[in-house]
Amino acid sequence: MRRDSPGADGAALIDALIEAVGPEHAATSEEARELASQDVYRSVEMPLAVVSPGSTQEVQAVLRACHAHATATFVRGGGMSYTDAFLPDRERSIVLDTGRLNAVREINAHDLYATVEAGCTWSAVDAELAEHGLRSVFWGPMSGRLSTVGGAMSQGAVTFGSGRHGPSVSAALGLEVVLGDGSVLVTGSGGQPEHSSFFREYGPDLTGLFCGDAGALGVKTAVTLKLEPRPAAGEGLSFSFDDFSQLVEATRRVSRSGLATEVFGAETELIRQAAGRAELKQDARNLFTIMRAASGPVQALRKGLRVVMGGRRFLNASKYLLNFLTEGADAAELRMNLRRIRRAVGDRGIEVANTMAEYARAAPFPAPMIVSPTGRRLLPLHAIVPFSGAVGLHEEYLQYVEGIRGECEEKSVQAFVVYSTSARAGFLWEVVIYWDDEWLSYHRRYLPEEMKGVASEGRANPEGRELVERMRVDLIELMYRHGAVHLQIGRAYPYARDRDPGALELLRSVKRQVDPSGLINPGALGI
Ligand SMILES: Cc1cc2nc3c(=O)[nH]c(=O)nc-3n(C[C@H](O)[C@H](O)[C@H](O)COP(=O)(O)OP(=O)(O)OC[C@H]3O[C@@H](n4cnc5c(N)ncnc54)[C@H](O)[C@@H]3O)c2cc1C
Repeated sequence: MRRDSPGADGAALIDALIEAVGPEHAATSEEARELASQDVYRSVEMPLAVVSPGSTQEVQAVLRACHAHATATFVRGGGMSYTDAFLPDRERSIVLDTGRLNAVREINAHDLYATVEAGCTWSAVDAELAEHGLRSVFWGPMSGRLSTVGGAMSQGAVTFGSGRHGPSVSAALGLEVVLGDGSVLVTGSGGQPEHSSFFREYGPDLTGLFCGDAGALGVKTAVTLKLEPRPAAGEGLSFSFDDFSQLVEATRRVSRSGLATEVFGAETELIRQAAGRAELKQDARNLFTIMRAASGPVQALRKGLRVVMGGRRFLNASKYLLNFLTEGADAAELRMNLRRIRRAVGDRGIEVANTMAEYARAAPFPAPMIVSPTGRRLLPLHAIVPFSGAVGLHEEYLQYVEGIRGECEEKSVQAFVVYSTSARAGFLWEVVIYWDDEWLSYHRRYLPEEMKGVASEGRANPEGRELVERMRVDLIELMYRHGAVHLQIGRAYPYARDRDPGALELLRSVKRQVDPSGLINPGALGI
């Protein structure tokens, strides 16, 4: 519901918020509130205000004010998600934006940890750690140009480093969290006086308790990350497949070897469509980025030539494309790893030009595509299943989309599958649904510079939108039937459904303990 006046108590709350963070960091304009009510997928309720605290103390003051005025707080990091995860679901609410919590508090290069504030973006943290020859063991999702360390710890993310270490939370050594009543707690070894934050597994894993909580258990204000030296050498390999089961088996074998630092791929048609509009100039720019990222001039030339010769020909080949990135302490180790990955894939797939793999290595934090390259709206839905369950899930999905193919064509809706892994444990299968539609103010605000003039807004397509919502519900059901688990639970995936009653009650009692009034991210996780 849109409202113009916050009412008497709302006005008192806003005064308290202004006192907490200063007038310039407590926005009440329609524009700011509307933007905070939207994610990549949709818009729900408008909050009363959007506040941006700049310190842990200011977060405490904000939560105390909300507690006193019985107002819900929805916590927003980079806002780069699509599962209603931070969207206000009620009129009486505020959005707490962590963007000003962006300091790097400590880098301990000797003991390999760094403590950063939760609103730091992954790309900023990585750039700072690079100056010390270090990186976080999980070093970001592809949205890391805008998405935050606190966001990834709160909902779980995969990509850079996940081939070896699994999701983002594997990098957390400790957390600083502000609870519903405004008190602060510290998890990990840093929670005792004169102890540094170097260790997580000391007694029950309280860091783990707050990781993946979808922000339901408090506001993370700082995260201590586990670091590792940056590798001396790295390279990507790309393979094409016609048979999905062969792709899954190749992925399983490479994952089991622990050699791939990143694994990602997509239906070739999706990449073809994404690549279609780019021009030679863009290809040349990509090539330059790849060559710049190579470690020496000879290597740069070799890589550049390979990409030029491979060009986009790999896109004409087959149905699925899969990329593995690997690293080595030196060139010899890298060569050995590449050989072993090729051997693990065997004749299941055909090696193709590694254009996509090399580009991902060279530009790990690309412009976040909140719409398709042409401007179509998008909604990703993912499932993590054991490798043994991936083919069954995919086959039932193919039957499902075949059943609605005519309707999709009629309503300008398309779906493609992309995939990845979470260390040795699981196959991450994701459907990305695209449809023609008008944009939200979110898309206009966050459209990357690189896409301006290329991506354009469509006309309102309520029928297409309704079909996408139906597909979202159906596909989440389909995933549940296949025993899928999820990151980014937010308010979209059925985490609490039929869960073991003892475990669920324990979690609910923790929620009551840390947030007695139930005012922090209410509804998140479904608890
Ligand atoms: C173009 C694009 C690329 C993407 N690439 C990837 C990818 O490679 N891998 C991947 O896993 N995901 C990816 N995503 C999804 C998403 O960006 C990531 O999951 C990312 O980690 C979200 O972080 P954020 O800071 O934007 O969090 P937000 O979307 O702002 O919030 C996510 C959740 O965390 C909570 N939260 C945020 N900060 C805090 C805090 N400090 N304390 C408590 N709770 C908090 C919010 O309440 C919400 O529940 C992508 C999305 C887009 C649009």
